[in-house]
Amino acid sequence: MEQVLNELKVEIEQSLQQATDVNELEGVRIRYLGRKGMINKLFKEIAQLPQDERRSYGQMINSIKTELENTLNERLQSNASSHQYDLLLPGCKPYAGYIHPLTGIFNDIVTFFTNYGFSVATGPEIEYDWYNFEALNMAQDHPARDMFSSFFLNNDMLLRSHTSPVQIRVMEKQKPPIKIICPGRCYRRDPFDASHSPVFHQVEALYVDKGVSFGELKWILSEFVKWMFGPKTTYELRPSFFPFTEPSGELAISCAVCGGSGCSVCAHSGWLEMLGCGMVHPNVLKNVKISSKEYSGYALGMGVERVAMIKYIIDDIRTFYANDIRFLEQF
Ligand SMILES: [Zn+2]
Repeated sequence: MEQVLNELKVEIEQSLQQATDVNELEGVRIRYLGRKGMINKLFKEIAQLPQDERRSYGQMINSIKTELENTLNERLQSNASSHQYDLLLPGCKPYAGYIHPLTGIFNDIVTFFTNYGFSVATGPEIEYDWYNFEALNMAQDHPARDMFSSFFLNNDMLLRSHTSPVQIRVMEKQKPPIKIICPGRCYRRDPFDASHSPVFHQVEALYVDKGVSFGELKWILSEFVKWMFGPKTTYELRPSFFPFTEPSGELAISCAVCGGSGCSVCAHSGWLEMLGCGMVHPNVLKNVKISSKEYSGYALGMGVERVAMIKYIIDDIRTFYANDIRFLEQF
């Protein structure tokens, strides 16, 4: 009997060595520990042994059984945990966020102007009437104020309706040469529809120095259009009116949807107005105590949403604020 048990131990060890996966280990378990397995068979044979040997053989069979059970459990566990990870499987890329299209355009505009030596200036979003209107050549009763339906907080303060007040603040403190851009949020009492938003973003540029000419303004505009929309973009600079510039201009670029032949996006004109500009009005320079005889300057300003809508051919401004991940993922 002892020899039988020793042979069984060796046999079990060999079977365990040969078993490599869960199915084979299960085979080993059935063969030795199953109801009709070898160990149960041996337990039955104990009854035929002499009375004084039964106890010690019973213990020996029991220890073989316990050892086999423990080994099988360990092997099955380690097999399961090693199967949890397939190290050769390609990894899942973690979800990465995207730059919001407005932030992207905003950064592009700022990068362009800082490359040309402009520095970034900022100012408060709650402004005095003086900075938002009066100093910009729009007195209390100036009809041009109607162009800006502003959010007034009291008689003298309002949410700024453009970023131009920053220009005044800088010119008040600093003597020319001044070369700044003013990026920021603006507020107007406009409806929230496809082409308006009560909160929007602007970037303005201001260059004041001795002998700054309209030609320089035209040059920077052409560079900017090439940078933002590509070197083959056609654009048009037309006369316009703003109280704070004289002469004033408006830049339109050819509609990318119809290629200039006219469509619903460009109101069948073939052009999309993008930017206002002009030479700083002498009254504005006078208001900040800069001599208009000695100095001249140009200013230009654009809506960031407008530029993004033209560049990406988006016909509803509200999509920028809807936080629809399917829209944002495209940029
Ligand atoms: Zn068009």
